[in-house]
Amino acid sequence: MDKIRVFLKELDQGSWGYDVQVLDPSAAIQDYLDALNHFQDEKVAPCLGCSGCCWERAPLTAPDIFTYGDLLFGGAITDRPIRRFLEAYGIVYAQDGIVDIILRRDEDGACIFLDKTHHRCQHHRLRSLVCQTHICLPKSRRAADLRGQLVNAGENELVRRYALEFDGQAPHIDEGGGPVDWKAYEGKGFTDKTGFDDILLKDVVDEALWKRLTAEETC
Ligand code: SF4
Repeated sequence: MDKIRVFLKELDQGSWGYDVQVLDPSAAIQDYLDALNHFQDEKVAPCLGCSGCCWERAPLTAPDIFTYGDLLFGGAITDRPIRRFLEAYGIVYAQDGIVDIILRRDEDGACIFLDKTHHRCQHHRLRSLVCQTHICLPKSRRAADLRGQLVNAGENELVRRYALEFDGQAPHIDEGGGPVDWKAYEGKGFTDKTGFDDILLKDVVDEALWKRLTAEETC
């Protein structure tokens, strides 16, 4: 039985979009990604060949780094994998005490992984959480909140682990600056996890959202 249901739904004021319902409390983030990718292919259109969202800021989560790292460095990196990946492919930005870690962009503002000639992602199958959860359709409120809470928690865990790789020294910041309380960052269900199949949705989202996600119909 499927653990996640992704389906077309009539949203506010007669517009159509998609909704997400959790059918099984043991659902992991990978189940959610599989269901979204399947829905995208079946009901919308495969996003290969479209680069519409690849010119925007793409925040990274901790498991994204390990997925990309295995691919780009030819195997798991054991020594400071997050620093090594971000030095080549990321940007660490800080402002007003908030740290943002995103995929690097080129001089035109395109994601570093975008093949601009063919308008496709060079690592489509392994693209990051924020990219896999972007569907070119409006979403229900609970679908939007789910995506937002997962990306935020995953990015917070990435910031926490990035800081740990500096062994008590001030972590490197590429852009912006100012004081940052690195110890305030925590990753909820993402803590110390490297893959999306190990992270349960119920361990990441807040209680109110969990109730809405497991309800049959909501807005
Ligand atoms: S990782 Fe791929 S899908 Fe995501 S923004 Fe970059 S090029 Fe686009």
